Amino acid sequence: MHPTPEHAAPEDAEARRDIVPVICYPTDALPAPDLSAYRAAREGWEKIADLRVPPREALAFDVPAGHFFRIASVEGPQVGDLNLFSADLSERFYSGKTRALHGTHLSRGDRMWSGFPTMRPLATITEDTLDWYGIDAFGGAVHDVIGTRCDPYTHCLLSDGGQYHYCCHSNLTRALAEARDLPLREAETLVHDVLNVFMCTGFTRDTGQYFMKASPVRPGDYLEFFAELDLLGVLSACPGGDCSSEHSSDTAACYPLGVEIYRPKSAPEGWAPPAPNAYDRSHGL
Ligand SMILES: [Zn+2]
Repeated sequence: MHPTPEHAAPEDAEARRDIVPVICYPTDALPAPDLSAYRAAREGWEKIADLRVPPREALAFDVPAGHFFRIASVEGPQVGDLNLFSADLSERFYSGKTRALHGTHLSRGDRMWSGFPTMRPLATITEDTLDWYGIDAFGGAVHDVIGTRCDPYTHCLLSDGGQYHYCCHSNLTRALAEARDLPLREAETLVHDVLNVFMCTGFTRDTGQYFMKASPVRPGDYLEFFAELDLLGVLSACPGGDCSSEHSSDTAACYPLGVEIYRPKSAPEGWAPPAPNAYDRSHGL
């Protein structure tokens, strides 16, 4: 937020503002995924799981390395909050660095990176049926890594102590605890910022605030991933539904989400699971 200034602008204020920005992390040097090899590997694949995430609940699902999974709209417009872990939970999706590398919203060819010190791709996006949407006149786009996940703590602060138990944070916590037989409070510390699948979001230009609008997703749409490592995915069908009005309540119309897992006949040509990041971790000592 930008308060009314209390300090006079310097004489060269406009000149300073007119400086052309540079991209923080040019990605030309990032090893690019061989998307054509990934997509060729879908030929003759076998669907081995077809799951449903109930509205206002989350579901955990294992995906072996070298398999594909899809998150699908099945009955009505619905957004999903996705957490990704290595199967042993030692690595987690790093939303902030993924955003720094690929931008505010992800699509085909982008990767979901793990945190430090491994910092390697957990998954690669291989298909996005909403890629036609682009960036709308409000600056909105789909599949963001700028939001966090709706949670009961923020809701409590903003609603004078309100207690709501089906925010994505709580849904992810319950599903992770059940999937890996963890105490609820231990599972909660592993839940992390999400990929907001199908959610349409941006920042207002006048105040810089995070906004959402009705998702353009419709039944039949999907986002498809290739698992670079053995993964545990946890997906919450957000209580915000299509996120056209509000979340953190039972008010919005909500629908299930589909999760489909596919086993290819053989691994993509030339693919190998990514090695952990090659930084030597000496940190100057
Ligand atoms: Zn949510």
